[in-house]
Amino acid sequence: MSIEKFLIYCGGFLLYMRRGFGYTMFMQYKIDTIPIWNAFRENGKNGGAPCPICALRTKLENSLVSLYLNEAVMEPLYRIEVNKTGFCPAHFGRLLQGGNRCGLALQTVTRTEYLEKNLPRPGNRGAAAKAADHIREGLRGCVICDSLKKSFDTYMETVVKMWIGEPDFPAVFAKSSGFCLPHYAELLEFSRHAGKRAPNFLQAVRDVFFTNLERAKRNAENFTQKFDACKHGGAAPTVTAADAAALPNLIGKLTGN
Ligand SMILES: [Zn+2]
Ligand SMILES: [Zn+2]
Repeated sequence: MSIEKFLIYCGGFLLYMRRGFGYTMFMQYKIDTIPIWNAFRENGKNGGAPCPICALRTKLENSLVSLYLNEAVMEPLYRIEVNKTGFCPAHFGRLLQGGNRCGLALQTVTRTEYLEKNLPRPGNRGAAAKAADHIREGLRGCVICDSLKKSFDTYMETVVKMWIGEPDFPAVFAKSSGFCLPHYAELLEFSRHAGKRAPNFLQAVRDVFFTNLERAKRNAENFTQKFDACKHGGAAPTVTAADAAALPNLIGKLTGN
């Protein structure tokens, strides 16, 4: 059991024992901030990593893939959801590589049974067009994507609330190595949770984003310049590990992962 899961279980038990509203809020807030502190601190130490929010999202996604390969296989409520919604191609791919083909097969067979029972079987052109739309709509569903979106939105809101409410967090936030462009957009959107302090929060976000984008661009530029001498007949350049990471880091800033 991971330390995060352990804390969540302990938190749930304590909440059960003491139902005071204030205490409940306190525990919930404390539990939700742990992965965020970790992601930002680790990112600050690892100066080249493109984005702490990408790291947070990857962790969340990995734990969801693991959930659907383990606990969810034998849990009726999860099975009902999987039968109804299924997985997207990317997450089916992750699950297939996840080391529990038997568990995945059980879920995939009952998902197929659900489809056999519920898929439309149209007999005329009008019904066929409707059925096609219905099927396409259903193909957009994925229980992992849906859970990821919900948890991710909660984390984004919590990042903003931590920046306002945790005295040490703004400094850790400022020392991170920046954000990818998709998560810069998310931070701008979630700044609405900063209330009156939104302008201050936005300034902090802009400073971290643009300073680190510039740094990543400069590193990639230095990488290209190393080859100038080579092009003009000089010796082949020595490419360090930092040089090799410069382009993937800049691409990570532009695209996220
Ligand atoms: Zn990101
Ligand atoms: Zn998905």
